[in-house]
Amino acid sequence: MTLALSAPIPDAEFEASLAPRHASALRIELWLGTVMVPGFWALDWFVIPEDVWLTLWIRIACAAVGVVLLGLAARAPAIFEKRVDAFALGYSLLVAWSIAVLCFMHEGYESPYYAGIDLLVLCVGLLYSWSARTAVAFNLGIYAFYMGPLLLGILEIRDFAATLTNQFFLISTMLVTALSQHHRRGIERREFEAQHTQKRLLAEVQQLATIDALTGLYNRRHFFRLGEDEIDRARRYAHPLSVLMIDIDHFKSINDNHGHSVGDQVIGTIARRLAACLRKSDIAGRYGGEEFAMVLPETDVDNATTIVAERLRQAIDREPIHTSDGPLKVTISVGVAPVAATRQGLLDALSQADAGLYAAKRAGRNRVIAWSEASARAAEASAAEAAEAEADPPASS
Ligand code: GH3
Ligand code: MG
Ligand code: MG
Repeated sequence: MTLALSAPIPDAEFEASLAPRHASALRIELWLGTVMVPGFWALDWFVIPEDVWLTLWIRIACAAVGVVLLGLAARAPAIFEKRVDAFALGYSLLVAWSIAVLCFMHEGYESPYYAGIDLLVLCVGLLYSWSARTAVAFNLGIYAFYMGPLLLGILEIRDFAATLTNQFFLISTMLVTALSQHHRRGIERREFEAQHTQKRLLAEVQQLATIDALTGLYNRRHFFRLGEDEIDRARRYAHPLSVLMIDIDHFKSINDNHGHSVGDQVIGTIARRLAACLRKSDIAGRYGGEEFAMVLPETDVDNATTIVAERLRQAIDREPIHTSDGPLKVTISVGVAPVAATRQGLLDALSQADAGLYAAKRAGRNRVIAWSEASARAAEASAAEAAEAEADPPASS
């Protein structure tokens, strides 16, 4: 497991993180536009009374597009969010070009309507943190549309000083907008990267704290936490639940004959093979060195023994384990125990499964044995024997 802190974050991921913000910014712009564009019709009565019905249609067209987009935002927010930058660019250009048309209807480059374009450009700069490309495209779209008739010689400059002033204002506004968007986008990108790193670190720490690195199974502590929760649930709803204890047979000889690193490979492969045989709801942990424990919800002891544990045993027995030292024939022994309604906790159930495991070892290994009174007595007797032998070792050893 490595900490990939410096891995670059794909641009698409950053763009996707901006989409919800841009969607709410576009909703604001649409509400403002839908109210203000028709609202400013009052001005046309004083400024261009001769074209007032034409300007009404232009304003209604802008408002209608705004209402359609607001409807889309409400009814299909996913589509609205997916295409938000295109919608924002299109709607902002529509309003800007509409104001430009009003300018031409009035006094051309000298019209006070022109201030509306400046305001809109600033508003877009405040609302969105567009990429440099989109910001430049938007501003060029406005400038080219507004300047087109002049550059093509369709309109004449009547008041050079006023036109020049407007040019300065428009170009300054566009520069301020594009630069502030670029600046804000940089800050947002850094914030996004910091959040991303934090999330990744948290996931890594969680994994380190819960997963055993060699086997990919839960470590003992986390296994107990999840297992106890599952036992509580089973007891509350009186559902069956069984536990398994699994130990690799004659594992010491693998270490002795092939070395620890091959031993590790065997433990890892067996763990993966066992995990592949389980249901998603089953909980598998590395209990100790080459011992695994499992909690099987919704499984009574008969099914746990004859179906699940037997499937696990066969999965190991059927095929050799491939190691750097060649294929090795390995087997496991399995002990099974039920969790009864009255029994205390996971540890008690596991110690009963351990008695079954001990019986399986005594019976010749590579087998599954469920806990029974007899296996428990045998395990107790053997533990007492082992304790005695430890206290009073034979003279020859
Ligand atoms: P049995 O069939 O009775 O289980 O015999 P065994 O040789 O497998 O005996 P036991 O289960 O007591 O063996 C445990 C051995 O596993 C002892 C230890 O050296 C080895 N072991 C424990 N943890 C690891 C590990 O992480 N890697 C390796 N390579 N070996 C381990
Ligand atoms: Mg062991
Ligand atoms: Mg063993």
